[in-house]
Amino acid sequence: MRRITAISCALAFVVGVSPAIAGECANPNALGTSRTLVIDSGAHPRLGAMQYSETLPLGPHEVVLTFDDGPLPPYTTRILDILKSECVKATYFLVGSMAQHAPELVRRIHQEGHTIGTHSLRHPLPFDRMPLAQAEQEIDGGITAVGAVLSDPAALAPFFRFPGLGRTSAAENYLASRSLVTWSVDIVADDWFRQITANEIARRAIQRIEARGQGMLLLHDIHPATALALPTILKELKARGYRIVHVVPSGLGRPATVTDPQQWVMRSGRARPTAEATSPSVSPRQAMPSQAPRAKAPIGRGQSAQAETATPACNSFGLIAAVLAFGCQNSTGHQLSLTPNRPAS
Ligand SMILES: [Zn+2]
Repeated sequence: MRRITAISCALAFVVGVSPAIAGECANPNALGTSRTLVIDSGAHPRLGAMQYSETLPLGPHEVVLTFDDGPLPPYTTRILDILKSECVKATYFLVGSMAQHAPELVRRIHQEGHTIGTHSLRHPLPFDRMPLAQAEQEIDGGITAVGAVLSDPAALAPFFRFPGLGRTSAAENYLASRSLVTWSVDIVADDWFRQITANEIARRAIQRIEARGQGMLLLHDIHPATALALPTILKELKARGYRIVHVVPSGLGRPATVTDPQQWVMRSGRARPTAEATSPSVSPRQAMPSQAPRAKAPIGRGQSAQAETATPACNSFGLIAAVLAFGCQNSTGHQLSLTPNRPAS
């Protein structure tokens, strides 16, 4: 037994997983996490089929879950509960100012084995119209803020996602110079849309995953509708034979997963997002992941999320909105920077 334990610990170290990941799943019917994909941040600096020529080297029926804009109770809490019950590991892109207001949730995300990247300090929009110096401050500020909450540099992955996917070549080059991987997205579920229901989020997520056959899914853990939709999404993924992949960065004692370079390349033969997946039903100016959650009431069973779904509009959001006011005030002028299936120039 002692030998088995020693081997298990050694394996956990080699693949770089935390005890939370290595532990057994208490739910025998859980979706689970099928494998850990270790990526080298220097080898593939930009990922995501919607904007780049490379994306994660996933196999058929493999899905990576990502959550942006949090943490924000009670929705982040609820989503963590769901992921835990299904033994699913995800990647979070945290906003620095949000992390400062909910440090206990940041620590919980880490303790439960999820990957933590960053999403700027204050989520200003439009990110792609800011001077580079300001973009750099936002990038660095987010990393500093989240890192301070975690108080462990190794706990923070060198992963970054632009607010509103507002990329610029200059900002991408800055990220690459810091060995940070820029994450875009393969599949969206429109969970930031005004008045979208939980059922519709789940329907779009599953439809678009099915159309593509695999991919990195973008969700937001600040929206009640997303929390309500997540159980259905996970249930449908399992029923349809999909597997969850957990992505972590390579590092000391954690070599990158061996892959073929062609696995990272978007190819014309691969299924791509449908027209619906890349053509929001609202105008591009509305089609923004909002950093301004309209948190009102705890999630209850059967509760309609429609009335509480976040909106890009900037109104009474209380303290968090005040912290994020810069981005909120500017969000109405944002042009969505999605360039579906076209490599970044
Ligand atoms: Zn965002």
